[in-house]
Amino acid sequence: MAGEPQSDCLFCKIVAGEIPATVVRETERTLAFRDISPKAPTHVLVIPKVHYPNAAALADAEPEITAELLFQAGEVAADEKIVESGYRLIFNTGAGAGQTIFHAHVHVLGGRPMNENMV
Ligand code: AMP
Ligand code: ZN
Repeated sequence: MAGEPQSDCLFCKIVAGEIPATVVRETERTLAFRDISPKAPTHVLVIPKVHYPNAAALADAEPEITAELLFQAGEVAADEKIVESGYRLIFNTGAGAGQTIFHAHVHVLGGRPMNENMV
């Protein structure tokens, strides 16, 4: 069924507590944890607890959770004190764009100048 946990999905395993993560925020429907390979001083991933392969699929099926995901990304930025300096939200979509985990997630990146084009 749409949104159900996938047995081969790393982020579903993190949601289930089967794989550890450094969780920084949690709501009933979302989870935010530090990226294991940070590309900036702040590099947090915010994910929906339900499984959809990418942000567009999530937005199509679950618009309210998608809005919550964006709101939580902003809360992470506030917690990390990077609102004033600026931060970047990234949704890699498709292998050709660098997506490696096919469970919707947004990268929250900041804490260094983010004015170059690529992550
Ligand atoms: P993407 O390339 O957009 O699919 O992003 C996947 C991100 O997940 C990468 O930045 C990885 O460093 C990160 N990642 C992979 N495994 C883990 C893990 N076990 N805990 C936290 N982040 C992870
Ligand atoms: Zn998943």
